[in-house]
Amino acid sequence: MINSSLKQLGQQLASKQVSSVELTQAYLQRVTQLNPAINAFITLDEEKTLAQAKAADARIAAGDFGPLTGIPLAQKDIFCAKGWRTTCSSKMLETFIAPYDAHVISQFDAAGAVNLGKTNMDEFAMGSSNETSYFGGVKNPWDFDRVPGGSSGGSAAAVAARLCAAATGTDTGGSIRQPASLCGFTGLKPTYGLVSRYGMIAFASSLDQAGPMAKSAEDCALMLNVMAGFDERDSTSVNREKEDYTRGLAAMTGEQPLKGLRIGLPKEYFAEGLSAEVAKVIETAIAEYKKLGAVIVDISLPNNNLSIPVYYVLAPAEASSNLSRYDGVRYGHRAAEYNDLQQMYMKSRAEGFGAEVKRRILIGTYVLSAGYYDAYYLKAQQIRRLIAQDFVEAFKHCDVIMGPAAPSTAFKAGEKTSDPVAMYLEDLYTIAVNLAGLPGMSVPAGFTQSGDGKPLPVGLQIIGNYFDEARMLDVGHAYQQVTDWHTQMPAALENI
Ligand code: GLN
Repeated sequence: MINSSLKQLGQQLASKQVSSVELTQAYLQRVTQLNPAINAFITLDEEKTLAQAKAADARIAAGDFGPLTGIPLAQKDIFCAKGWRTTCSSKMLETFIAPYDAHVISQFDAAGAVNLGKTNMDEFAMGSSNETSYFGGVKNPWDFDRVPGGSSGGSAAAVAARLCAAATGTDTGGSIRQPASLCGFTGLKPTYGLVSRYGMIAFASSLDQAGPMAKSAEDCALMLNVMAGFDERDSTSVNREKEDYTRGLAAMTGEQPLKGLRIGLPKEYFAEGLSAEVAKVIETAIAEYKKLGAVIVDISLPNNNLSIPVYYVLAPAEASSNLSRYDGVRYGHRAAEYNDLQQMYMKSRAEGFGAEVKRRILIGTYVLSAGYYDAYYLKAQQIRRLIAQDFVEAFKHCDVIMGPAAPSTAFKAGEKTSDPVAMYLEDLYTIAVNLAGLPGMSVPAGFTQSGDGKPLPVGLQIIGNYFDEARMLDVGHAYQQVTDWHTQMPAALENI
């Protein structure tokens, strides 16, 4: 059961082979057993979860249900969920109970899905290893000595260890795709504006986007069907017709389902910085795509090497503004002792935020300050446009772009914590996609061997043109019809 697809689970629920309460209890039991070691979930509320499962069973009995009704999902702790503790993995919000639902949460509620619990993450989604969390790191299920990636590390480990049927994540610079690569599952960051950011705690608003984290492209399509859609409460939500992201999947069988698909390979993605082992796995995956009928086009994204510096001006600038609301007055942590208002602000923020968050606030405040605004912030915005333009040019010659999702496989916990720049380089192939507002996904493409012989997953990144998620999911699904990387799970966890 734990390896079943969302479609299979849906069929079992619909035909009453299993009830949502039974399914939910089975997952909760697995969580009870494995979470103390993995630390994927930071908040569980069995009562609320089972109440939702019961309600789902009632809907199924009444014949009023959809593909995700009764299915237990893990929610990244960046989404406000009414009555649930919502912390963003920060001491600042350690005791915050959300008074309302994020759009994503209410969409899943309306679909009848079950909220299994809130997952660990890097503090305010700042990080690539989940090590900046106030609630401690998360273990990579493939090798407990290694990180799951970040910032959606809890959701990633939960999907990889099969602690949930699927999960949500958010991706500001790579936080769905990089953990998907490091933990071996399928994750999709949609086009900016496709999924409403309402009730999703803000990090860098012009980049943040929520998306599905699941075993397969098909599962991601079912999740995206629920998540995507116009919401007037987010001014950047795009008002376009709802799509069925599963519509093309059935045609992805037979001899050459991708005949004529033009895959662009950016030379910058296969240059210095990419581990040789990862490169080999990606090349093998590309060869598989050729068998499926695709043709390869060499392309260039000449400004890709500027994406990390540009991001680390813009994202902190936006974060410094977004995080100014945590002042100890309205909600969040407040220092116990202070002499005046100024000191109350200072102590509350000094105590409530962790080191990486403080670093970003300082950088952001600096680049926005009067004397430096033109030199840093404005310049970064100009280069952002050039980076987006590179993709416009590239998509004149290809239908999708492929490459690695991350430069290496999962690294050891502690390995990069003292070197922020090494940590930032994790997003070398993902950040430009956010800067351009494009959709990107990572699909499991194989394994390398760690030094001690453990298999470590590698993700193939598929980047699409604006709102081309349906095609990307078809492309991922076609590959998953002829490979089984996405169905593999850590051997040690299989029989638990
Ligand atoms: N690793 C990047 C950062 O630390 C991206 C994080 C994200 O996508 N939320 O900011």
